[in-house]
This record gives sequence, C-alpha cells and structure tokens, in this order.
Amino acid sequence: MSDPWSEPAVRSDRAERANRSVTPFRAPRRDQWSALASPQLITVGVDIGGTKVAAGVVSAEGKVLDRARRETPDRSKSPQVVEDTIVDVVLELAERHSIHAVGIGAAGFVDARRASVLFAPHLSWRNEPLRDAISDRLRLPVVVENDANASAWAEWRYGAGYGEHHLVVVNLGTGIGGGIVVNGAVQRGEYGVGGEFGHMQVVPAGHRCECGNRGCWEQYASGNALVREARELAMADSPVAQGLLERAEGDPGRITGPLISAAAKDGDPASIELFAEIGQWLGVGIANLACAFDPGCFVVGGGVSDAGELLLAPAREAFRRTLSGRGFRPEARIVRAALGNDAGLVGAADLARPLARRFRRARRRRDRLRERRAVT
Ligand SMILES: [Zn+2]
Repeated sequence: MSDPWSEPAVRSDRAERANRSVTPFRAPRRDQWSALASPQLITVGVDIGGTKVAAGVVSAEGKVLDRARRETPDRSKSPQVVEDTIVDVVLELAERHSIHAVGIGAAGFVDARRASVLFAPHLSWRNEPLRDAISDRLRLPVVVENDANASAWAEWRYGAGYGEHHLVVVNLGTGIGGGIVVNGAVQRGEYGVGGEFGHMQVVPAGHRCECGNRGCWEQYASGNALVREARELAMADSPVAQGLLERAEGDPGRITGPLISAAAKDGDPASIELFAEIGQWLGVGIANLACAFDPGCFVVGGGVSDAGELLLAPAREAFRRTLSGRGFRPEARIVRAALGNDAGLVGAADLARPLARRFRRARRRRDRLRERRAVT
C-alpha cells in the first residue's frame, strides 16, 4: 500500500548515474596511516557523561582491554571534585597497565588547543584548564576533546565510518552532538567549538532550549525530545498512549528513552510513531548538514540510535524529501553507529596515541641520559 503523502521511492536515472560516477575514496589502511602507526601503545580514554565517568584502556586496534567507572559529580560540585574523579579512575587503571597517555572526552566546548573546557552545560567547568591540571597530577600527557568529536573519530577509525573521506557523525543523546572528520582529521573549527549541530535553529519560535534560543534542532530530534513528546502524549490521556503508560506503571514521569525504545521494538504503535517523528526531524536536519558539508556518509549514534531502522528509515525518507537538488546529486549514506557507548572513550584514547609515542620517546631519551651520567 502506498502512502499518498510520501514521494515515490523510485529515484531518477540521473541520480543513479550521479551516484555511480563517484569514485569511492579509499582511506589508507589503519597500518598505513603513518601518524597513527606503530608502536602500538595502549592509552586510556575517559568519557565524562552526564551521569557517569567511564574510562577504558584501549589498544591500538580500538579494543577496550579494561574498564573502570565512577559517578559523575553533579553541577553543584567544584571543578576540583571532577578532576579528582578523573585522576582516581585513571590511577585505578594505571595499577594494572603501563599507560603512556590519557584522552579525555568531555561534553562541552573545548578550546582549539584541546587544553581547556570553555563551557560544559552539565558540569561546573567554566574556562577550566583541564589538560594541564590532570597532566600535572598524573605526570602523563593528556589531551582534552569534545565528546562528540571523540566519538566521530572512533567511528571513522574503527566503526561505521571506516574508510570514508568526508564523514559527519550525529549523536542523539540527551541533546545532539556532532563531529566532522575530513581526510583523516577531526574538523574543530578555528576556535575548537565546531560541529555543535544541535543548536541550529530548525523551527522559528519553537521549543525553548537550554542554550538560550528557541527551536533548536535538538529540541526536535534528540532523546530529550523523544521523552518530552511521549510524556505529553501520555499526559493528554490519549488511548493511543495506553501501551506506554502501562509500561511506565501509569506514571508519565517514568517514561524514559530506553522504555520507549523497548516498546517500539515490541510493536507499540504510539512508540513507533514517536520514533518516526524524531526520525523525520533527524532527516530534515541531516539534509541541511548535507548542504553545508556534502559528506559521503552520515553516522547516527547515541542512545536514541538503539532504535535502529525505526529511527533511520523515516530519517532517510525525510532526507531524500528535503535534500536540495534531490534527484540530481549523489546522496550520502545514513547509517547507524557501530561502537555504541564505547565510541567516546575509544576515540579519546586514540586521539591521545600520538602523544603517547612522543612521551615514550622523551622518557627513553631521559633514561639514556641518566645511564650515561651514571657511567661517567
Ligand atoms: Zn539550543
């Protein structure tokens, strides 16, 4: 049965030809990428999320060899407390592994030198010189990265974006995080805060956003948007929301993202519809991003992407319907992220690897000098 409101799925011959004429870019194999090639040092990645600090020892192949985690100190706690938590979790791993560098992925604006967190909405950091503070205490090289950039890097290196020349990653969590990887480098912008797609305005005078504006994309296509819509539906006392309310034991306040996700996978029509709505906004936003970046592939990650095709199929449909010059240009693929919750810490750890090599070289030089002095 065809839906009279959607465009036919048949694409024009011209679009097909345009798609065919593109030579696929072949990124160097992992072992050929000189800046990241052997020695295969292990590093630690720390992902600071809204609720937990997750750390892991990551091999040069992107495997998480060991893990440790702590609760994230809330916004009321001083930056010192967050620092202590990071140091504590890394030291726990350092007891079991020989670590050469630490990468920290933080949800916030990180400066271009990757040293300070300019602003973090969920933590007390305001212009916090995190890199030097942690590095001094651990006596290890440290790099600070925006969490979405770290996940984008991980997806490019080891995940769904592997082998892509131009990649855009969109993470649907509480809000929307984004990352851009072009020619094997994270694009951070002049001041380090590029890729904040979540705050592009998509609806004039729309929903209020934490950032101070109205109608931001993340108010329509994030986990928060999904839960807000589901709760509103449940509170409207609509029979449509029956299934959702039963799962939440009659309390709309108990409806969460994972609950909606589980309901949709079980075939609850209202939940499927909610994902279709979020997916359609996702597709519209991605079509806008295609205007700006024209990447070969969009990787969609974050908790909401657990819904898989329930989210991505409507997103692709809306993307095709909204893309400028549709039918006359090659279309980017839209795929689900491959690394799940690990992307942030794997990416942060891998971005610290070049530092680890330098650190090890410096330490060897120092040791040789010491030996020579001992001999004379
Ligand atoms: Zn906003």
